[in-house]
Amino acid sequence: MMNLQIPDAGVVEQHVHLGGAVPIHRLYEAAVDRGIRLPVQSYDEFASLLHRRRDNSGTLERYLEIYEVAERIQSGPQAVRESVLIALNGAARTGGSLAVDLEGEATTPLRQQLPIRALELRFNPMKRNGNGIWDLDRVMLAACSAVNEIRTAYKGKLKAGLMVCLGRDLPFEENLILAKKVSLWAEEGLPVVGLDLAGPESSNSLEDSARLEEMAELYRRAGPKVGRTVHCGETRAIQLETFLKTVQTLEPERIGHPLTAVRAYCEDGDARGLKLMAERGITAELCMLSNLLTGAVQSIESYRTILNAFDQFGIRYTFSTDAPSLQKSTLAGEIGSLLQSKAVRPDQVEQSFETAAQTTFLHRLVH
Ligand SMILES: [Zn+2]
Repeated sequence: MMNLQIPDAGVVEQHVHLGGAVPIHRLYEAAVDRGIRLPVQSYDEFASLLHRRRDNSGTLERYLEIYEVAERIQSGPQAVRESVLIALNGAARTGGSLAVDLEGEATTPLRQQLPIRALELRFNPMKRNGNGIWDLDRVMLAACSAVNEIRTAYKGKLKAGLMVCLGRDLPFEENLILAKKVSLWAEEGLPVVGLDLAGPESSNSLEDSARLEEMAELYRRAGPKVGRTVHCGETRAIQLETFLKTVQTLEPERIGHPLTAVRAYCEDGDARGLKLMAERGITAELCMLSNLLTGAVQSIESYRTILNAFDQFGIRYTFSTDAPSLQKSTLAGEIGSLLQSKAVRPDQVEQSFETAAQTTFLHRLVH
């Protein structure tokens, strides 16, 4: 791929959501198969509704809007197992190619691919239990079973682990159940390697210190066996002060889209966010296309400034797709676009591969 030095062991992708990692036609077929009511009448409408583009996204709230449809279709143990299998197979099969066709199949010759050999897949089991119809433990066990089946099927050539996302849009009580379960599942040796907080930042920015303290309680409850990341600072709903307090209180090892810290530095010359990340050795999980779709970043060229700011402070970063199937993108394709627009240098990409291998939560897998 474009004269890049690709690690022999392949590439680790750290930030992929299950809701965004099952091709749209597979979601549709599953909905038809299970008789799930859909908000549209035809496949074309469905495909257009779920495909994340600039014209139907533009903000994080709008970008996330249709996740509810994917989550409904992916609900229940059987559907979750199937979805995890599809997502992991998909990453191995197409994740490294430069482009996918409309059905989500790879269109790049094999030799040009960027081999993905390890994937951290994240999802919120509480949004897959049909409002309590299904047992949360069974939903998670089904996801874990799919991860273990893939490990066996690929003879260890594809590593995978699951991360549980708490929801900014969920009530404390539901997140509490999730956090306790995460601790339990990890203790039981299931392939649950990380904890995350996802959902619209505006619905619970954690600006309120009582809400932040609640969240800290949840991160503690999840226990020491799982890695900690948090979606924080993608949008302007998170002010720098809130970003700082969130990092100090939740103590994440990695942060998804910590753009608040970069904005504060580039727009106001306030380096506290970047300094804090550097001091704590926190890795930035970056998802270029999804940031463009949500309007978190205005242009691909802006990424040059973002990456240079991280480099200047010695903050490490990794690249991921966030939602490959709904964006119809691939990791190689997104990195290729960044390289082509000179927003990133090859040595920065190579460094990001190394960082991803070093900072992956998959080291926490119990074999
Ligand atoms: Zn994300």
